[in-house]
Formats: sequence, structure tokens, C-alpha cells
Amino acid sequence: MPAKRTLKTARTTVASARTATKKAASKAAMSGGRTQYVYAFGEHTDGSSAMRDLLGGKGANLAEMAAIGLPVPPGFTISTDVCTYFYDNQRRYPAALKADVEKAIAEIERQQRKKFGDADNPLLLSVRSGARESMPGMMDTILNLGLNDATVEGLAKRTANPRFAYDCYRRFIQMYGDVVMGVQPANQESHNPFDEVMDALKHELHKVQDTELTAADLKELVKRYKKLIRSRKRADFPQDVYEQLWGAIGAVFGSWKNERAIIYRQRYSIPTEWGTAVNVQALVFGNLGDDSATGVAFTRDPANGENVIYGEYLVNAQGEDVVAGVRTPKQIAEMEREMPESYKELQRVRAKLEKHFRDMQDLEFTIENRRLFILQTRNGKRTGLAAIRIAVEMTEEKLMDQKTALKKIPAESIDSLLVPVFDARAQKAAKVIARGLPAGPGAASGLIVFTASAAEQESRRGNRVVLCRIETSPDDLKGMLYSQGILTSRGGVSSHAALVARQLGKVCICGATGIAINYERKTLTADNVVLREGDYISIDGSTGEIYAGPIDSADSEVKRVLNGSLPPAQSYAYRLFETVMAWADKHRTLTIRTNADTPAMAEQAVAYGAEGIGLCRTEHMFFDGDRIDYMRQMILAADEVQRRVALKMLLPFQKKDFAGLFRAMNGRPVTIRLLDPPLHEFLPQDDAIRRKLATKLGVTPEYIIERIRALHEENPMLGCRGCRLGILYPEITEMQVRAIFEAAAQVMTMKKPVPVKPEIMIPLVGFKAELADQVTIVHRVAREVSDRTGVKIDYLVGTMIEVPRAAITADELAEVAEFFSFGTNDLTQTTLGLSRDDMGSFFETYRQKEIYQHNPFASIDESGVGRLITTAVERGRSTRANIKLGICGEHAGDPASIAFCHMAGLDYVSCSPPRVPIARLAAAQAALKNA
Ligand code: PEP
Ligand code: MG
Repeated sequence: MPAKRTLKTARTTVASARTATKKAASKAAMSGGRTQYVYAFGEHTDGSSAMRDLLGGKGANLAEMAAIGLPVPPGFTISTDVCTYFYDNQRRYPAALKADVEKAIAEIERQQRKKFGDADNPLLLSVRSGARESMPGMMDTILNLGLNDATVEGLAKRTANPRFAYDCYRRFIQMYGDVVMGVQPANQESHNPFDEVMDALKHELHKVQDTELTAADLKELVKRYKKLIRSRKRADFPQDVYEQLWGAIGAVFGSWKNERAIIYRQRYSIPTEWGTAVNVQALVFGNLGDDSATGVAFTRDPANGENVIYGEYLVNAQGEDVVAGVRTPKQIAEMEREMPESYKELQRVRAKLEKHFRDMQDLEFTIENRRLFILQTRNGKRTGLAAIRIAVEMTEEKLMDQKTALKKIPAESIDSLLVPVFDARAQKAAKVIARGLPAGPGAASGLIVFTASAAEQESRRGNRVVLCRIETSPDDLKGMLYSQGILTSRGGVSSHAALVARQLGKVCICGATGIAINYERKTLTADNVVLREGDYISIDGSTGEIYAGPIDSADSEVKRVLNGSLPPAQSYAYRLFETVMAWADKHRTLTIRTNADTPAMAEQAVAYGAEGIGLCRTEHMFFDGDRIDYMRQMILAADEVQRRVALKMLLPFQKKDFAGLFRAMNGRPVTIRLLDPPLHEFLPQDDAIRRKLATKLGVTPEYIIERIRALHEENPMLGCRGCRLGILYPEITEMQVRAIFEAAAQVMTMKKPVPVKPEIMIPLVGFKAELADQVTIVHRVAREVSDRTGVKIDYLVGTMIEVPRAAITADELAEVAEFFSFGTNDLTQTTLGLSRDDMGSFFETYRQKEIYQHNPFASIDESGVGRLITTAVERGRSTRANIKLGICGEHAGDPASIAFCHMAGLDYVSCSPPRVPIARLAAAQAALKNA
């Protein structure tokens, strides 16, 4: 089957503002006649959640929370304008920034009654990134800033807890050494140098847990850390607190352009020009003892959307411990028992946040001696399933309206209700070797790989892989993109692995403490089973179960309801699906059709909500069994007589298939495209197949080779295809049209008649005369069939718009065509002069160099191909006001392209059957956005 031809639909997530630029920067507020770079939050707050462009998501929401009276430690945000300035001016800052930052620090000092760098009563700070769209874990963070050899003593005295003070100090030196000074592991397989120093000390002291280290031990550790930095960097860890602060600010701005941030931005189409803000905030301590804690929480379950507080916390710990996945945290439900007052307070905050932000929130909190502080809130990342459930349930709870709910569900996420799950019987028979936390739902089965690079290698070889790590770091992102699933032995549901996997729609299990991963030996051991790199493993991200070996997957609940094997009432997933689809249908104006070539495909598409067939590729109807041989016989025919013999064999197949399609579509319009077989795809290339064909046709293999040679084209995509075939051999068009009308007449006069609306489509037209030539045949044969059967059939004849000339002369074509369907696969190929089949060799480089923002075969090149489409729409309508307009290229299943089609004023989009639900939602979103 010519798989190359039908482009696979790329799952590109196109950020809503993919063409957005940083115009917002110019909207920076002016203060005292000059640009304001620093925005305070706390007792006095300058910003609000409406200022994300300037303050980043984190800064804007900190301001908003401070303004509505939530307990937020005071601080300030350095705007994204400064980031732009920083990169435009060799990493320097605007002249006014220094004084502004110092003034803002003085204000924090006043509110906290502490002093930055003071040896008796030191103020400590956190310095964090915060882009307009959250990029979890991709940029840098520094905590405990402001500690040095003097202030650590002050902190020890103030808290009467030297162990705590030195614990903070050693953490700070490690973070600063890593992030600002660049003391890092040499490669993926080597250990963190600071951890090595710590492990060596623990070993010397015969201690196992970090918590066993005393104040004196930690003091020694601080000494060794400083030595490590000096030996690696030939520079001392800075004692001056302002030097620390500017080092940290520079590192955070610098991290906007680190490799993982760049990969992430490319994946999510986040423009580089946006830049990040920097948030500097008074530090509160979750590690002050057993009445202190730190944690992260989602106001609803981000994996399945359930309306429960969800998250985890660690007693006596700092924020990074939770997200880094170093210690496995406790589930938030346990907090109700362990810290009841704080739990109640957290529940109150949860309700207030949801009511205020009207969306599921992902928050970071710290409890310092029983006092709850919220350090961050943002709209929580969620799985596709959770996005749907939260939107539906929040609408039912009147927290949002239906239109907002529709806009909140990424159209692609509908897929998560439709994706396969493990085949139940195969799963039952498989051996569970361990369990972990279900962090990203779905079923994944593949080869075990232990590093991101192995994931990439194996996946490029065409293997499905499951990336198995002790814990993941943001550097694993690339490997995660290549993996079917991610499995970690450490970390919780909000660890980096879980967050990123969920966002990528990857299956994920984390914190599977029952498995042991050994990177050196490349083994994964669980329950006495030893698996090696390259062995199969299967993971169920919905239950957390891990299996040795491969497991087949099975249809989702929604699919089972749709095919009648599960009663609808038994599936909540189906109710969600139905609700969202019904809402979408209410708001969309585009009709959704499907590209289907068989009755089975058509039936599936109708079950998914297709309202017609927008493209039946008739050449694809010959893939079944040995039908292709008749097709080949026709192509290879040396003269009309031979061709008519082959066509006579093809007619009954075609007629039967069309009748099947008409019945499946039950009165819905069916667009049938006349033959368009590029010869290189249909002629037998394989010797054995040629021989078999020769025997079947009663000719010699040499004759076949001879005919293939005679038909050879240097460039078959631009050769004798499309309407050219029917113009050269009108008997082919005649046969197909006869089959269509005879099938229609038959179905319309069955015992239980089915109405039929055929639309006959002529491919690859560039000249009105080409179209007219074929249309004449269509009308003549239609008349003949109608006269002979006495059945009157309503039909349309139209053309595909697949070459620039067709688009430009659309006014002329519309004199003959009753409809246009944009074949954007070929229109992209011919407009960009870019082969559909041969862009692989340079596509990656083009993307990396940002020459292409996205794959133009997956998402419409709006400024090129798009302009041709709008030209054709305008010119087509100028001739025939009511001309029907649609699109049937692969772009018709891509949400960003659907939005474009809506704007361009098309009547319908026609996509592959599994994309129909996504297209319904994307069409509604396009309508709502432009209402
Ligand atoms: C197209 O070119 O967009 C199209 C739908 O036709 P095909 O993919 O069959 O060339
Ligand atoms: Mg085409």
C-alpha cells in the first residue's frame, strides 16, 4: 500500500499564539516617566494576573494572589522586558535596574523585619524563573539566597537550630554551584558531583540518611562543597549577598536559552521573543522542624480530573525536594491526619483559588511553623482526560460556562478518550512485577531503555520504547518525546517525570519503589525478575501496574460504546465525550466530513460524528486482496482494447464498493474522487510480484517489464496523474462514473431505499478546459444511466484545488465546478516546490533553524498556501456565489489549520475518521474565538 502517499497526521501542538510576537513588551508600564522594570507584590502590589506578558505566569499570579489576600511571602518580579534587553545587549541590564532592585529588596526587608546580608537577622530569598506559559523544570531556580559564612550563624541563632541553618547553607551552595557556577555532572551516566561529596562524607561517618547528619557534619559538608567549587571553577563561592543575587538573576535569565528550554519551546511553539521574568521572593521555611512542610497540590486530580485535592508533601523539607523527586513524598490525604489545621487551611485556599481563577490550579505551598504560605499558583497541566472531565464538571458546578469550557479543552486531548488501552485478556495473563504511582494514563508497551539517547536511537530504528529512569531530570525531555511511556523508581506524581509526561500525553508511572534500576549493568529488577535493556516491558499509566513482556492493546471505552460492545450507561468516559461533542456541535459552523474509502471506515467516521465523506480516494479501493492486479492490468494496458478488458473487470468491484459507501453514509453527501494514482506507487516494483502478475495476465514477465519501462516517469508526482489520466483515457472516467451512478440507482431503489448524494470530484486540475473535458463525460454518463434505469439522481461535479494555477484561476474553474475541495497535500507540495515524500532529509534542520515553524504538511503554511486558499475562495465565490468549499488534505485534522479554514470561510473540513471528534471540537473553538 502506498503508505508514503497518505501523510501521517503529525500530532503537533500548536500554541494558540504561534505567530505571536512580543508586542506586549512595548506595553510596559511607565513609572516616573521611565519604563518600570520591577513590580512588587505583598503589602503593596503593582501587578495582576492580566499582566502575564510582562510578569510571566508566576509573577502575574503571585501579584493576583497577594491582591486577593492569600498568604504570599512578599517579593518582586523583574519583567520580561529586562530579559529582552539582556539578550539584546550582551547580557547586560538596563541602567535603572540596580537601584530598582535595591529599593524592592528594602521593601521586603521592611515587611519581613529582616535584613538582606545581615549577620544577626538575615533575609533569605528565592530567585525563580517565570515565563508567560509555564515551562515546568526547564529553567533555573535558586533558594536560600543570602546565606554566607556570617548570615548562616545569624540564622542558626535566630532559629535556635544550627542544624537547620547549615542544612539551608549546604543546599544553597549546591544549587548556586550547579546553576550559577556550572559545577555539574560530566554526562548523563555520571553522578552529581555534590551528591558524590555528600555520599563520601556519609560513608566516612557511617550514616545512611541525610537526616542523620548533625550540624557539625553539615558544617563539614559546606567546607567540602566550597572546596569542590574552588577546584572545579578556580573561583570561590561568593560571600557578598548582592553578588549572589545578581549571579542568580543572570543565571535565571540565562536559562531561557539553555538547551532543554529551547527544545521545550520548539515542542510547544513558544516564541523565543517572549523571554522569562525573574521572581525574587522572601523565603519561608518548610524545613524548620516537624510542624513545617512543603508540598505541591492540584485543586483536582490532574491525571483523571476527579474533584479532589491531589498532591504530595514532605514534612521538614524545602520545595525542591518534592519536585526533584529525591525523597518520595506523602500523599496529601495523609496531611489531614498529620497536620489537620494546615490541611483545613489548604482546603480553604483551594476553594478560593478555584473560585477566583475559575480553573484547576497547581500550587506550591510551604508550611512554616504551622503557617501556610502559597508560593505559586497556575492553571494546572493535565492529561487530556482530566482536561475534559474538569471542563465538564466545572461547568456543571457553575465555575465556568460552556463556551469557556470548550475553549479550555485542547482539541487534541479528545484523543485520550479514544486511545487504546491494554487488551484486557492479555493484561490479565501478564505478570505484574511491580506497582508505582499512576501518573499519566494509557497503555504503553515497548523495549526498555535507560537513557534519553538510547530512547532516541531505538525509536529512530522504528522500535517502541519505555524510558526507565531512577528519576528524570529536564535533560531527559528529548528521550521522553521518543518514548511510548516513562517509568521511574523514585519521585511522586508531581515530579518532573510526571508533569512532563502528562503534558506530552505520555503514559507514565513514577515512584515505583519496588523496582531497582542499575544504569551500569543496564538492568531493571523487580520481584526477582531481571529485565535488561532491550527487553519488553509494559506499563499501565492508569493503574500504576508494571508488567514484564509485551501486551497488546485494546479499544478505549468510548470506542467500545460506539461499536456497541459496552452499554453507554456503564461508561463515564463516554458521557464526558458525548457532552463535549454535543457542546461543540452547538457552537461550530464548519461541517465535519471524513476521508474514507471503505464502508467500515465510513461507519467508524459516522459513529465519531462525520457528516459526510469529503474524499473517497478511488484508487485506494483496490488495495484489498488481488484487486490491485486488475488495476495494474488497466495501467499497463498497451491500447484501448486491453484497457477496456481490464475496466470491465474493475466495474463490478467499484459499483459494489460505492453502493457500500452510500449505504454506510445513509443520505449524507459522498464526494468521490476519480482515479489519481501516481504510477510509481501502483506499478509492481518487486520481481516476484511482477512474475505473478505476468502469469495471471497471461503475458511474459519481460512484457510487464517492458510496459513499466515505457510508462516510466522521472517525476511521477507531476506526471500522468489526476485528471490527465482521464483525459488521455476517457474510458477510465466513463467506467468510474458509470459505477457511481449505477450504484446510486441501485441503493435508491432497494427494498429499503437509501437516499444518495454523490459529489464527483476531478483531481489535479489546473485549467478550466481540463475540468470541462471530464465534466462533459460525467454528465453524459449520468444521463445514460438515468435514462436506462429511470432513476433521477441529484449530484454535483466539482474539482480539487491542488495546484497554484487552480487557486489563481478559481474564478474560471467555478464556471464549471459546483464545488472546490482544497487538496492541501498537493497544494503544499506544488506551492512550496517541496516533495511530499522527500522532505525528511532536511526537515529537522529547517525546524531547528526555525525556517519552518512547523511541518507545512501537517499544519497549513498560512502565509503561502493559506493565501492561495483565500484567493481561491474569493475568486470562486465571485463567479458562483453558492459554490461549496471544503478541504480534504491532511491539514483538515489539524486544529490550527481548522481554525484557518474557519477564518477562510470554508463550508467543511474532511479528515481521517479518528480525527473527526478532534475536528468537531477544533471547529467549535475556532467559531468561539471569532464570535
Ligand atoms: C491532497 O492532495 O491534498 C489530497 C487530498 O489528495 P492526495 O493526498 O490523494 O494526493
Ligand atoms: Mg492530491
